[in-house]
Formats: sequence, C-alpha cells, structure tokens
Amino acid sequence: MHDALPAQNSLLRTIETCCAEILDSFGYREIRLPLLEKTELFKRSIGDYTDIVTKEMYTFEDRNGDSLTLRPEGTAGCVRAAIEHGLLGSQQRLWYAGPFFRHERPQKGRLRQFNQVGAETFAMAGPDIDCELIAVTALIFDKLNIADLTLKINTLGTADARQHYSQVLVDWLEPRVQHLDEDSRKRLQHNPLRICDSKDPQTQQLMQEAPRLDAYIDNESQLHFDKLKSLLDDRGIDYQYDPFLVRGLDYYNKTVFEWLAPIESAQATVCAGGRYDELVAMMGGKATPAAGFALGVERLALLLAETPDLKTADIYVVVVGDAAERDAYRLTDRLRNALPLSLTLIVNCDGGSFKTQMRRADKSGATLALIIGADEVKEGVISIKDLRGDTGQYKKSEAELLSCIRSYFSF
Ligand code: ATP
Ligand code: MG
Repeated sequence: MHDALPAQNSLLRTIETCCAEILDSFGYREIRLPLLEKTELFKRSIGDYTDIVTKEMYTFEDRNGDSLTLRPEGTAGCVRAAIEHGLLGSQQRLWYAGPFFRHERPQKGRLRQFNQVGAETFAMAGPDIDCELIAVTALIFDKLNIADLTLKINTLGTADARQHYSQVLVDWLEPRVQHLDEDSRKRLQHNPLRICDSKDPQTQQLMQEAPRLDAYIDNESQLHFDKLKSLLDDRGIDYQYDPFLVRGLDYYNKTVFEWLAPIESAQATVCAGGRYDELVAMMGGKATPAAGFALGVERLALLLAETPDLKTADIYVVVVGDAAERDAYRLTDRLRNALPLSLTLIVNCDGGSFKTQMRRADKSGATLALIIGADEVKEGVISIKDLRGDTGQYKKSEAELLSCIRSYFSF
C-alpha cells in the first residue's frame, strides 16, 4: 500500500475531478459506500471461484466475530445499498470513487490499495445504456488527453449460454491440459471461462484454436450486441470485437468491455465494465437489469505525463517586522476573499529575515511575492515582486492591488 505524496497527488486529483464532472454532466449521481462489508456479500456476488474471492480479499473478524472484508470492488456494495434503500423502483445512474483493496502481488500498476472511479446503472435493459457508459469513459479519456486506448467489446450471452459453452470448453481443454499454465489448470475445475482471460502467452496461443463463445450466444443477446455495435458506430466510437474477452467476476452477462493502454503488460487494462442483469435478484432484490464500469485511477495516472507538481503557491506574502505583521494578516484575509479559490496564497509563517522569506517565496514556485515591511506600512502600500517574469518590483496601494494581481493570472 502506497503513500500518495503531495507532488504526485495533483495528477490523481485531475483524473478524479474530470471523472466526477463528466459523470455529473451525464446525470449520474454520487453514492458513497462503506469500505467494509460483510465477507458474505463479496463471496455471493463476485463468485466463490474468482481470483478476488479465492486469494485477493483482506478479510478479518471484528470484535463481534462477524467476518468483514475491505471492499475489493464497488459493484457488490452498490447493489446492496440500492436494494437496502429501495432505489430500484426507478432508473438509476450512480457513480462512486475511492479506495479498494486486493491482496495481489504488488507491481507497477497493481497496488494493494488503489483508487477506482465507478458507475452503476439500474433498471435499463437495452444496449443504449451500455453505449452511454462506454461514451462516458471515452469522453473521460478524451478530456484527459489520453489517446491510443483500445476499446474491446464482447458479449457473454445468458447464464445458460455460458454454461453450455463452459462444458464444451472443458471437454476441449481436458486432453490438452499439459499446455495450460498452472492457474488455468485450477480454473478448469471451477471457472473455465476465466481461462479465456489468461495472461499466460502459451495458454493464450492454445486458446486461439479453442471453441469460441460466440458460437453459443443466444439470439436475444446477439441482437443486443449487434445493436450496441451499431450505436457505437453511429457515435463514432472505435472498438475491437474480442470473442475471448471475459471478465474476472462471475456476475457479468451480455455486454462486457475493456479499455486497454498500448503497453505490453498484464496491467494494460485501465477500465472495465459490462452488464450484470442477474446480480440484483441473486442478492435478494427484485430482478433488475444493470450495467456499469470501473476505472483504475492509478493506471490512468501512469499514462499521463509524469510531471510531479512541485508548485505550492501562486502568491507568497513576505512579512517583515512587527508593524507589518499587524497589517499583513488583515490585508491578506481581505485579499483572499476577493481572489478566486483556485489561486493559492501562502502567508509566511515562523518569521525569518527578508532574504530567508524571499528564498521561501522562490522555492514555493509562486508567480508573485507581495512584500509588506516597515517602509510599506509607513507609506500605506504593498510591494509586488514579479518572481518569474520581467516586470520587476513596484509599489501599489491596496485599492490597486487586485487589478494588478489580475493582470498576472487570468480570472
Ligand atoms: P486485472 O485483470 O488487471 O487484474 P481486474 O479484472 O481484476 O483487472 P477490475 O476488477 O475490473 O480489474 O477493476 C477495474 C479496474 O481497476 C481495472 O481495469 C484496473 O484499471 C483497476 N485495478 C484493478 N486491480 C488493480 C490493482 N490491484 N491496482 C491498481 N489498479 C487496479
Ligand atoms: Mg485482477
């Protein structure tokens, strides 16, 4: 689990803010869910034989002896909350953001505590909402200026179709078991569909010749998928059809999708989602169609130019001498009221000579230093020093100060 230090956090904040604004603009509403849920919730929804449940959950007993788990994903908790609070009587567009926990082998792009932004929609059965979810993610990447992501889509059909295909796949793989990687061998027993998703090159090669799920898709799911493809075409969203795309969680049906970064890595997936029409009923609610996605904030951050944000201020106020101190705080409070909150104003604390304070001002990355010393107090003015450009140092009255600052920053 990583400490996210201030210099890196502006990138995470940019991503999260962008996601929040876009989701809000599409009419999705934020839901904040607990980080801890009953272990049973995840076992039942994600599936007993998935990677998450078999080896990735942080599970412990609390003081009452209840088994609790740090949430490894957001859908289960969101469905629980939607059932519990009676949200499923009408259409819902929800989103959430925050930390998730998985006990995986830590590596680049794979953390044990990571952040996701996710969306879940309820009571909409058609491919139009699948397309909307994909369009939301496409716009997020567009606004963040992340190009060259590949969108892969597939349809998993109904549970029956998958069951039928799973059996066909097992029958085909059993005589070839020696070519499978160790994880896939284990999956052959309990979760054969996941073998399609193996990241092992030899298994991937073998799967190229395996029977394909698309031959077993039911008619309704196929029509749903065809309509989704034409909606994406109409919208100008490029995609690749990948008949081997499955998701790591059991609850998906019909549409599944992933956005992949152009890197050779098992951590290339930045966003994944799909439809899960059976989950709500499975968890005790009334049958409600549902679809959603989750995107990995840290994985997206890896794709954005890594320029650590070292700047801590836009304006640094240098205060020298007792008389100046008395004036300075009142003045800066008035100024702070008039300035937009997006401008950062640091007032020097803990004293220091003029020279020391000017060094701090420079180190802060500020554009301007405002200097208040004995001379300024006597004359009733403030000195402004341009720390980065060529307008030098000059004095202004408080009345003139705001318009002068405005000429350096656009607000
Ligand atoms: P992967 O195949 O990479 O393990 P997953 O199928 O387990 O991903 P999801 O449960 O679909 O992932 O989670 C959605 C997104 O969250 C992923 O596409 C990825 O961007 C991000 N994510 C998942 N696990 C991690 C992790 N351990 N560290 C950082 N980001 C993660
Ligand atoms: Mg995983």
